[in-house]
Amino acid sequence: MKKKVELVMIPTPGIGHLVSTIELSKLLLERDDRFCITVLVMKPAIGPATDNQSYFSSFPQIRFIQLPPIESPPTHLLLKSVEKVISLYVASYKDLVKEAIVNHVLPNCDRFAGLVVDMFCTSMIDVAEELGVPSYLYFTSGAGFLGFLLHLSTRHDQGGTEFEISDPESLIPCYINPVPTDVLPSFAFNKEGGYAAFLNHARRFKETKGILVNTFPELEPHAVSSLSVYNDLPKVYTVGPLISHKSQSPWQSHQEKYDKIMKWLDDQPPSSVVFLCFGSWGCFSESQLKEIAIALEKSGHRFLWSIRAAGKDELGTPVENINYGEILPEGFLERTQDKAFLCGWTPQVEVLAHKAVGCFVSHCGWNSILESVWYGVPIVTWPIYAEQQLNAFQMVKDLRLAVEMKLDYRRGTDTIVKADEIAKAVSCAMEEDGEVKKKVKDVSEKSRETVVEGGSSCASVRMLVEAMVEGST
Ligand code: UDP
Repeated sequence: MKKKVELVMIPTPGIGHLVSTIELSKLLLERDDRFCITVLVMKPAIGPATDNQSYFSSFPQIRFIQLPPIESPPTHLLLKSVEKVISLYVASYKDLVKEAIVNHVLPNCDRFAGLVVDMFCTSMIDVAEELGVPSYLYFTSGAGFLGFLLHLSTRHDQGGTEFEISDPESLIPCYINPVPTDVLPSFAFNKEGGYAAFLNHARRFKETKGILVNTFPELEPHAVSSLSVYNDLPKVYTVGPLISHKSQSPWQSHQEKYDKIMKWLDDQPPSSVVFLCFGSWGCFSESQLKEIAIALEKSGHRFLWSIRAAGKDELGTPVENINYGEILPEGFLERTQDKAFLCGWTPQVEVLAHKAVGCFVSHCGWNSILESVWYGVPIVTWPIYAEQQLNAFQMVKDLRLAVEMKLDYRRGTDTIVKADEIAKAVSCAMEEDGEVKKKVKDVSEKSRETVVEGGSSCASVRMLVEAMVEGST
């Protein structure tokens, strides 16, 4: 009988990270049936503990262990630096992670291939060391952002520190074009521990046995090859695009909404719909929502708009249950009723896969980028938080795979993007023979080729599986 090889996944608590980790687990299990995979699930740092059992039960091949909940960090600290607080919150799970492995994984273990930790979970490398097993990093964003973090560490060693918004543009090996300071992620300027937290993560990436990146070289050729400048880096495996082709919403059932949205899309002509959706934390002020509404009406296109308003709580948590009539321009709903579908949560992947969709106004979260590339839908860039400004910059300037609307927009500023600017970018993306559209179709084909036999991602996963099995103890 073949000996089982145990692998433990530790994702950052948060839907995007969890879904991506499940996709990685499914892939590894498909590629080698010796693997036995356990995913350790932490309570989200913000909000209450959620019951995910029914969602997890749709993946019977994976074992999920929900770790005992730890108290959420206080809001005033989150407001100072989300990155620092999340990193500390994750680190406070170290003992619980070790306990779960010792009690539930080790007792029936033939061979242990190690821990796969997410970008915010580098503190768990200590647990792997204590257990005497290897650790791998699963980087759920792209090679560009990974390269940026590695650059941060080199720059710091040469005397660099937090960026100032007045700094000149930077030459960063993973990007072809000089990077304007205003597209750097907010943590790069943060003197309350945000910069330091990511610097520490970037340094620790190098302690792992391998770095798995959710990308493929045909998407980011320059960024992927630039990683070879770091000679102290472990082997990098490009394992993407790892996408869940079935929209996930583990927290609640959305079947009824799903059916309505898909039925509406079925009734629209091919490539006629502008789709707007801004990730798990994307939301806007009422004035900004009004400008978007004016732009959409002006553009004359049909649209499917996932609307979330900034909540009134201190964190501005997105709110979905909105009275559209109260906040959108007077008469907007009546005038656009034949062309519009407004909703909160959307089954984004299925929407992007639908032939009616012509372009995607997106916050440029990495999962959203991979999904839109896979389905060949051009993006209009509207970054909001995390590393999205850098993603938008890379997609527009380096890769020419997105239409530029905003590169430097960010949550928490008073900037209002005017209707004209939005309408102009949307019209450009909807153009029948637009350059960006053609390029996206080309990379879309490549994204499908890379994951099958003969493709680069497929080969990279094979090498990873071999390394994991050989390295198991
Ligand atoms: N998503 C979705 N419906 C929504 C919003 C988001 O299905 O209304 C999914 C989207 O398809 C993607 C993920 O949630 O898989 C968001 O990940 P991304 O990295 O793009 O952004 P994040 O939410 O992490 O900022």
